[in-house]
Amino acid sequence: MSGPVLHHRTPEFLQILQQTWANLKIVFQTKQMVQILTGTGSAAMEAAVVNSASQGEPVLVVVSGKFGERWADMCERFSLTTTRWEVPWGEALDLSAFATQLKENPRTKVVFTQACETSTGTLHPIEAMAKLVRDILPDALFAVDAITAVGCTKLQMDDWGIDIVIAGSQKAFMIPTGLSFIALSERAWSRQSKSVTQKYYFDLQAEKNANSKGDSQFSIPTPLVTGLNLVLQRLKAPGGLRQLQQRCQILAETTREVGTALGMPAYSKSPSPSVTALSTSSDSSTIRDWLEGSRNITLMGGQDRLKGKILRVGHMGDVQDDDMLALFSSLSEHANQIERWLKLKAEVEAKLKSAPPLFAQEVSTP
Ligand SMILES: *Cc1c(COP(=O)(O)O)cnc(C)c1O
Repeated sequence: MSGPVLHHRTPEFLQILQQTWANLKIVFQTKQMVQILTGTGSAAMEAAVVNSASQGEPVLVVVSGKFGERWADMCERFSLTTTRWEVPWGEALDLSAFATQLKENPRTKVVFTQACETSTGTLHPIEAMAKLVRDILPDALFAVDAITAVGCTKLQMDDWGIDIVIAGSQKAFMIPTGLSFIALSERAWSRQSKSVTQKYYFDLQAEKNANSKGDSQFSIPTPLVTGLNLVLQRLKAPGGLRQLQQRCQILAETTREVGTALGMPAYSKSPSPSVTALSTSSDSSTIRDWLEGSRNITLMGGQDRLKGKILRVGHMGDVQDDDMLALFSSLSEHANQIERWLKLKAEVEAKLKSAPPLFAQEVSTP
């Protein structure tokens, strides 16, 4: 990414773009085109909304945290008839309650959900949800914000029958913010052609037309795509994707174990492998400030009703064992639990060592 910047219409770059498109399909587990949009994850959320439904059409949104609220706010902004289904924060949604919601909203055109609600570190049962949508509302689309799920948990778009999957560059793809990704099933494409919601930049059919000629519709940030291409080449090596998922899983388990030992248990009852929210008994912003000021470690806190109550530890990206160990020892120091940590340390180190490395195979850089 720090090499000379390629022009976005040169054959040299378009070849990289082709490779990137092909390899994104592996991570999304789909045969469909995975489009690359210039814009952060929320851009792909908006693209999903404006290409799947039209003004006045009923949609059902799972709201289990801040990102679910964002889906619902977007749907309302585009004048969709929006039913917000509130799920208690920190809990995986209950499948029989979900089935009831689907039955009570039989005209629903699209069901929107997060796979992982990043604001609470909670993973939802997407495979089972997809099946319920298909069985109960055969004409509805199932749209999944999988921004903190694609790459770090198992998510099989085609096999599970998901209609819209979105992801973002700064999460499991380990590159800076700026790109988002969206894939539509055939059913979703046929709905797209009927959607009359106003759109220009996020008209996915226009993008698809450009893509079929081997190009992107608009200028595209070539350094980000070049970085993405390298990450994807590594992930597509045999076992690469599974290995990344296992690594996230082990980092998350370890974080929960250490958190519990230090009096900061996981907030979520259905914790995600991509990000762990630890509940703190004292104000978490004080702990964050101390970690940042004294230990050079940046964590996110909670928002809204979770402000000051949780610390969120990310497991996506190039997170090394030493990063985790530095965090754990710092947390124990702040909690006056150093002895406790020292007793655990050897076991934790061994567990982290058992995690596979980030990539199965190194790929030489150009
Ligand atoms: C990060 C994230 C987004 C997108 O946020 P941006 O700031 O627009 O990249 C959307 N949904 C979830 C679940 C996320 O974790």
